[in-house]
Amino acid sequence: MKEITSAEFEKEVLNGGKVVLDFYSTECPPCEALAPKFDAMAELYSSKIKFLKIYRQGNRELATELGVSSSPTLLFFENGKQVSDSISGGIKKSEIVERLDKMLTAEEVFAVKANQKKTVSEYDVAILGGGPAGLTAGIYLGQAKIKTVLIDPSLPGGYMSITHQVSNYPGFEKPQPGYMLAHFMSEQAKHTGIDFKVAVDITSVDLLKKEIVIDELETIKAKKIIIATGTTPNTMNAEGESEYKGKGISYCATCDAKYYVDKEVTVIGGGNSAVEEALFITKFASKVTMIHQFDKLTANKTAIEQLQANEKISVMYEHEPRRFKKLDGKMITIVEDLKTKVTKELTSDGVFVFIGFKSNVEVLGEHLPEMNNWGFIKANEDMQTNLPDIYAVGDIISKKYRQITTAVADGTIAAIAIAKEFN
Ligand SMILES: Cc1cc2nc3c(=O)[nH]c(=O)nc-3n(C[C@H](O)[C@H](O)[C@H](O)COP(=O)(O)OP(=O)(O)OC[C@H]3O[C@@H](n4cnc5c(N)ncnc54)[C@H](O)[C@@H]3O)c2cc1C
Repeated sequence: MKEITSAEFEKEVLNGGKVVLDFYSTECPPCEALAPKFDAMAELYSSKIKFLKIYRQGNRELATELGVSSSPTLLFFENGKQVSDSISGGIKKSEIVERLDKMLTAEEVFAVKANQKKTVSEYDVAILGGGPAGLTAGIYLGQAKIKTVLIDPSLPGGYMSITHQVSNYPGFEKPQPGYMLAHFMSEQAKHTGIDFKVAVDITSVDLLKKEIVIDELETIKAKKIIIATGTTPNTMNAEGESEYKGKGISYCATCDAKYYVDKEVTVIGGGNSAVEEALFITKFASKVTMIHQFDKLTANKTAIEQLQANEKISVMYEHEPRRFKKLDGKMITIVEDLKTKVTKELTSDGVFVFIGFKSNVEVLGEHLPEMNNWGFIKANEDMQTNLPDIYAVGDIISKKYRQITTAVADGTIAAIAIAKEFN
């Protein structure tokens, strides 16, 4: 994979024919998740399309010129002109394929696809999701010598990977960077000998047949499945939100806060995540304005005390964002005062959103386990769902407290219960 700098942009990209350019950053979990997919795509399409990488931090001016404000971002060029819309954040293989195929003729697409082959593999247990819940289940199953595969559309680690500091995971005297915990946990799981299939597209899941198809071509058959797919941040459905996602609106402080040195930032939310991430953002930004719908923050006491002691942060209580727009490179958030119904404009350099989560069940096919009213899976004390041989662990299950420790506990329980059945 060729890496270029701004100096080579004209020669390699503008005069380079058909090109896909990856703006990546370091310490960026979504960039790491993209890398293996990008490499695999490059191998498949390289005779028709040139694949290039460029380091965003080292080529900031060019990135800004091209409107890249989030990592990773993929841009597609044909004869010096940008074709297709750019994609950024947690990029799926299918999103890339869709854009690449548009750059080729039907015959060329056919020739590329002809080089792909279908495979089938069999396991005792398939774990869907490599967050702390799935990884812990993997550690226990691997140590019990049960043939296990862990599947994740991203890199393993789940939310740990994007949490800047974890101060409540037992065993560490000092707060740990989340990505280190994620790294240690996934290395520990790998060392037990289980298979990892990460940074893949989940094509389909059939919980009754216990078959999972990844990247359209690989079928995985398992005797038991553990669902550990976690949750997804809620979006606000405010006008302009999807338009500016990755272009001024971010959902990951670890990934993007570093681009706001001495800048002003708006944070939406008022729970634990919002407060903790706002505190982290003040390491870079000069000013953080939080917008919160209630008249008090819902975070824990320690986090609130830290926030109150931080002079860079102010909170607009009982306000909600209604619309986002961009003017002269600044993000304008139109906020409504929920008491007076009066709207006003809040100008900042970027917006971060942390407003709760929904369960990742829509990826589990049509035969879903029983769920509570909010779409979280019901599991018994062995983490079994009502579907035969289907277990669920971590944030995706119906429970009161969602933490790394509780996810780890769920993974442990499911794995021990399963291991007993294979004895
Ligand atoms: C910003 C933030 C900060 C936090 N800070 C802390 C903290 O300091 N301390 C603490 O204890 N807790 C913290 N939490 C909560 C904690 O991270 C979660 O409770 C925990 O990560 C849940 O683990 P999980 O394995 O269930 O899910 P997740 O960590 O969400 O992992 C789910 C995994 O499933 C994968 N996945 C999604 N869809 C599919 C699919 N279709 N197939 C396969 N895999 C899929 C995802 O890519 C992901 O890797 C924080 C959460 C956030 C968001």
